[in-house]
Amino acid sequence: MEKKSVVILGATGSIGIQTLEVIEKLDNFYISGIVFGKNINLAREIIKKHNIENYYSPYFPTYKFSTLEEMLEKLNPDIVVAAIPGFDGLIAILQSIPYTKRLALATKEALVCAGPFIKNECEKHKVELIPIDSEHSAIFQLFDENVVKIMITASGGAVRNVKKNKLSKLKPNDILKHPVWNMGKRITVDSATMVNKAFEVMEAYELFNIENIDVHIHPTGTVHGAVLLNDGTVKIHFGFPDMKVPIAYSLTYPERKFNNPKWPKFDPKNFEFYNVDEEKYPAFFYGKSILKDLAKRIAFNAADEIAVQRFLTEKIKFPQIADIIINTCENIRGNVNSIDDIFEIDKISRNFAQEI
Ligand code: MG
Repeated sequence: MEKKSVVILGATGSIGIQTLEVIEKLDNFYISGIVFGKNINLAREIIKKHNIENYYSPYFPTYKFSTLEEMLEKLNPDIVVAAIPGFDGLIAILQSIPYTKRLALATKEALVCAGPFIKNECEKHKVELIPIDSEHSAIFQLFDENVVKIMITASGGAVRNVKKNKLSKLKPNDILKHPVWNMGKRITVDSATMVNKAFEVMEAYELFNIENIDVHIHPTGTVHGAVLLNDGTVKIHFGFPDMKVPIAYSLTYPERKFNNPKWPKFDPKNFEFYNVDEEKYPAFFYGKSILKDLAKRIAFNAADEIAVQRFLTEKIKFPQIADIIINTCENIRGNVNSIDDIFEIDKISRNFAQEI
C-alpha cells in the first residue's frame, strides 16, 4: 500500500509533536514536510530525528522554501495537520486547502472566526475536514443523520472546586495548573473561564450544523462527548484523555490503525456529570448565546486573548476576563463577507478590549 504523506503546520507545538509521535507508530504514513515558527532549536531536532526533507518557517524564509505555498505546491500532501494557533494558523490553512485532500484541524480560530469560509474552501477543493480536538473527534465518530442534540464535556478547569466568592483572589499560578490536560498558557486560562468550551461549541456548530449543543462538567475527562438520537438512544464516546487517539483517527479515518489498547475502568467516577454554573462561568454562557453571530465570535476570540494577557500579567482580576469579553462583544457588530472583514473586526475588537 502506498504511504500517505502528511504536512504538519505547527510541528513544534504540542499537537505537532504528538502528531510526529503518532506517525512514528503508524505504518502507512510519513511526514513529507513541516512548518514551524520561531522555535528553531526544536525544529532542527525534529528535522534531524524524523529525517524531514521539506520544511518552511516564515521567520527563516531563506530556508528551502520562501513561501508556504511553494512548499505545498511541490508536495501536494495527502493530509495537512493544521496546528498553528491564532490567525497565522488560519492563513496557513487557507493557503493549504488547494494543495491537499484532507485537513486535520486543530487551529480553533479557523472555525470560530472563519467557519463558513473554511467550509466553503474545503467544499470547493473537495477537501475532507476532520477535527482533531478530542470532543469534536468524539462527536465526529458518533454522528449520524438521527442526531437531535450533541453533548460535549468540560473539565471545569482549575476553578472547578473554587467557591464563586474566591474567584477574584486567584493569581495566574492558581489557574495554570489544569486538572486533566497539560496545555499552553492561554488555553489553560481559557479552560478555567470555559471560554475554550464556548469556542468548542462554536466549532461543533460549524462542523455538524447543529445548534442544540449541551455542555456538562465531567471531572475525569473520560467521556469526551455524546450524541442524543431521535429514538431516545444516547451514544457516548468513552476513553482516556490522550490527544494521540484523536490525532491518529484524523489521519487513519475511516479506519482505526492506532494500536493503543488501554481503556478506562467502568467506574462510577468516570461517569460523573455536573451542570455548568452560570455565575461561575459567565463568559461561557455569553459565548454560547452568540453562536450564530460571526462578527461577535471574532470579537469574543480577540477580546479573550487581550483579557487573558492582562490577567497573566496581573493587570486585571480573574472575573474581569469575562467582563472584558462581554463588554467588547456587546459593542461589536457587523457583517462578515470576506477574510479581510475578519481581520478588520479582529483589529477593532482588540483595540476596544485594550481600552476597557
Ligand atoms: Mg477540547
